[in-house]
Amino acid sequence: MKSFHVYWKAPENKPSRHQHEYSAEELNRFKELFAPTAAKFRKHTHIQVVLILLAMASVVILVVRQDMADEWILAPLAVIFTVIIGGSIVFPEPTCPGCNNSLSDIPREYCPECGSRTLRRKYRFFFPIQCLSCGKTLTGGKGRRYKIRACTHCGIHLDDKGF
Ligand SMILES: [Zn+2]
Ligand SMILES: [Zn+2]
Repeated sequence: MKSFHVYWKAPENKPSRHQHEYSAEELNRFKELFAPTAAKFRKHTHIQVVLILLAMASVVILVVRQDMADEWILAPLAVIFTVIIGGSIVFPEPTCPGCNNSLSDIPREYCPECGSRTLRRKYRFFFPIQCLSCGKTLTGGKGRRYKIRACTHCGIHLDDKGF
């Protein structure tokens, strides 16, 4: 029988090549390859935000109106949870076409915002990580407050707008 593992985080691959080891054509090709994924991911994030806002608005309406059965409050809450949990299963965060690692991993080598290899921890052993080139402070993988334009593992630039 095949064993079944659930990976919350895909195992990390060591990049076979880094950004400076690719030719300009290869780098452009990666960007082209990645464009539909970035567009899809941006759209999905927008849909998620809209659905969550709608669900939150209906919770507020249900609470204010009070003439409806209490159980109805559970319906929009269920929508919120389904969108958050279902969304991350159906639309996993994209992976890098160069090294196959998750792009939403905690910043490691390259700055996901500007692609420079100038990341430093702000405090010796702790988060956040700061980029000396663009000055961004980068916090945590999920629920991140920065945009991803480059792969943090191999440094290839994937998206101008970022997602
Ligand atoms: Zn940077
Ligand atoms: Zn990569």
